[in-house]
Amino acid sequence: MSNNESHYPTSAPAQTQIQQPGEQESMYPQPEIIKENYQGSHKLKGKIALISGGDSGIGRSVAVLFAREGADVAIIYLEEQQDAEITRQLVENEGQRCLLLEGDLSQPELAATCVEQTLQCFGKINILINNAGVQYQQSDIGEISHGQLEKTFKTNFFSMFYLTQKVLPHLQEGDSIINTTSITSYRGHDELIDYASTKGAITTFTRSLSTNLLKQKKGIRVNAVAPGPIWTPLIPSSFDAQTVAEFGTSTPMGRMGQPSEVAPAYLFLACDGASYISGQVIHVNGGEIING
Ligand code: NAD
Ligand code: MG
Repeated sequence: MSNNESHYPTSAPAQTQIQQPGEQESMYPQPEIIKENYQGSHKLKGKIALISGGDSGIGRSVAVLFAREGADVAIIYLEEQQDAEITRQLVENEGQRCLLLEGDLSQPELAATCVEQTLQCFGKINILINNAGVQYQQSDIGEISHGQLEKTFKTNFFSMFYLTQKVLPHLQEGDSIINTTSITSYRGHDELIDYASTKGAITTFTRSLSTNLLKQKKGIRVNAVAPGPIWTPLIPSSFDAQTVAEFGTSTPMGRMGQPSEVAPAYLFLACDGASYISGQVIHVNGGEIING
């Protein structure tokens, strides 16, 4: 299961979960949340981050890494209460606060509620991480129902639009928005046609909003991260067992990535060190060159 070049597993044993969103607690092996012995250095001291899909996977890793760097976080999740409680505990272990916001972001009304509650709790928002998402594997476009197409776009893309609209008026100079797009935005995916299309929209949204805000001279940057195959609950809850067993093995590094290996890209983009970077995408994908 492990190769010589890395202490990370190449792939995971075949496994599936019966519903999406999946649960991090049921995965084996457990994803790595934060790199061992990572030392924080107050890079986000006093900052407040709102993270959609922050209960598990990439979002949980971002929450914990941001907390280690001194931020308080609010996380939005659909219904995975246990995963959310664990994330809260992990953030509190870092000495920071974590607000849990449960609800369905595909409903436009939820965005305002989440923003109000975050402001009530923390008084401000500095970083918005648009990261919630679902995907449903289908081998034939004819099998993608109207309901699935709508759900995928509403959850992955419309939610990002609504949340951004509600958060933006509260952001100040130096604050930033970071969206989770995907490698599938750049090279497509033959069994995730609708999902890959939402990710294409997210990449274009990132670029468009970035130039729009720069033109308004608000000092707010907008960037994205495009993960390749990352070991999160999304994978066993959306792919068949065989796909899970091979997941990540075709990357140039020959292995899947861990959420702990993706979160540092969000940290970099959120920090002042990235003050001259906007409208860009960081590719965290095991070495695949996709020219994006
Ligand atoms: P994940 O399942 O841990 O995270 C997705 C989260 O989205 C869930 O925790 C869930 O609470 C939230 N969510 C789903 N539907 C929602 C809804 N209707 N309302 C509110 N929240 C909802 O899996 P992950 O892989 O960490 O996914 C995070 C992001 O990363 C997603 O946008 C996904 O598309 C993207 N991504 C993942 C990979 C990968 O290989 N894991 C690759 C590229 C991009
Ligand atoms: Mg989850």
